Amino acid sequence: MSAKSKSTQDIWEKDQQYYIHNYANFKTFKEEGSVIYAKGDKHFVYDNDGKKYLDGIAGLWCVNIGHGNQEIAQCMSEQAQKLAYYNTFDDASTQPAAELASKLASLAPTKLNHTFYGTGGSMANDSAIKIIHYYFNMLGKPNKKKVISRNLGYHGSTFLAHTLTGIQATHDHFDLVKDLVHYVTAPYAYHEAGARTETEFCDFLVKELEDKILELGADNVACFIAEPILGAGGVIVPPEGYHKKTWEICKKYEVLYISDEVVTAFGRLGHMITSYEKFGIEPDVLVLAKGLSSGYIPIGATMVSDDIYEVISQPKSDNPYFSHGFTYGGHALACAVALKNIEILEKEKLCENVLEYSPAFWEGMKALEDLPIVGEVRGSNYMLGIEFVADKRTKAHFNSEVNITKRIYQHCKERGLILRPIDSVCIISPPLTYDQEAIDMTIDIVKNSILAAIEEVEVKA
Ligand code: PLP
Repeated sequence: MSAKSKSTQDIWEKDQQYYIHNYANFKTFKEEGSVIYAKGDKHFVYDNDGKKYLDGIAGLWCVNIGHGNQEIAQCMSEQAQKLAYYNTFDDASTQPAAELASKLASLAPTKLNHTFYGTGGSMANDSAIKIIHYYFNMLGKPNKKKVISRNLGYHGSTFLAHTLTGIQATHDHFDLVKDLVHYVTAPYAYHEAGARTETEFCDFLVKELEDKILELGADNVACFIAEPILGAGGVIVPPEGYHKKTWEICKKYEVLYISDEVVTAFGRLGHMITSYEKFGIEPDVLVLAKGLSSGYIPIGATMVSDDIYEVISQPKSDNPYFSHGFTYGGHALACAVALKNIEILEKEKLCENVLEYSPAFWEGMKALEDLPIVGEVRGSNYMLGIEFVADKRTKAHFNSEVNITKRIYQHCKERGLILRPIDSVCIISPPLTYDQEAIDMTIDIVKNSILAAIEEVEVKA
């Protein structure tokens, strides 16, 4: 890290000594320390020493409306003064909790009308699995419990959500829930398709899912969980037709379809909810977080279909309780912020903004594929991944000591852009306020940073 002011040094020392970071890299953390972010304004953030950066990752795929929004601040203040919190257990509720659930029902596909709240994406996925298990128990099908997930899928970090996550490297030295989750191939054409055409690769993936259901026994499989575009796994876009075909296979075997839209909802792909609007499927369960509040407050939501609700809401004679709930589920202040956030997304036409600027963004980013270490630029709209390779022909990655994406991240940071390096992929997922100027700056900085990295490493053209 470069020279720090005394104030930054003080924060950094406390940070280093007392704070265990999310996904801490203990190889570098203790020596290199952290960037202390102190302020945000629209799609810019400032560190504690006043250096300005374009926020190319919207915090962590979440600050969709941009930083420093005054309407949200005002809403928070008003709701906090009125009623920040009351529980929503049993017979208690609040206006924001009810209003938000109603708003979400109006945005989601037709049959998804019922919302259960939590505080983030992992918790929302946990709830999805618990609710589905409960549903099948209520239906008298107690064996229907297994979950099919995909390699490279990311679904969170609680015990259960971590087990749903198919990124094997994240599992190292942790325990997982045993015998629950089964993984199928990631729809990762760049590395998995081989000589197959897109259609052949899609057919292979769909058949593999069907075979997995049959192997486990349809009576034992509860659900399939999938992000419409895999995010943290490397911004992987499934082949054309994949969503519809996998959804149909699930319906055929009464396997419920969970669409994890923690990243893709609320405008990142130019739509509020992408499963239906972009990919034409109606999941049984929809998982939301991040863009739901644009990261201004922790909140997540698990939406379930009318069919599921009808079953789980039947009172039982022995014990009438649906015994699943969190102190902060349906938090009044969080729900009020989410409602205001959705109002802002709609009022400022941010989905339209994404659709308007995406073609120019993509044209500029795709051109990076001409550079000798860029294997593929992929994604959709404001969700991009750049995969780096040491050899374009074999698609071999750089040795881990080269740390290519971390190098590029550092070069971008020096030039005033934050992106996110994960393994061999750099991720860009900016606030939806990104305009032509921000796009041009991003393309320019990324290109110059890659060129700077090329100077430092050995490249097979
Ligand atoms: N699902 C997806 C698709 C995600 O990308 C994430 C987080 O990045 C999660 C779930 C977990 O959300 P959280 O970190 O809020 O628990």
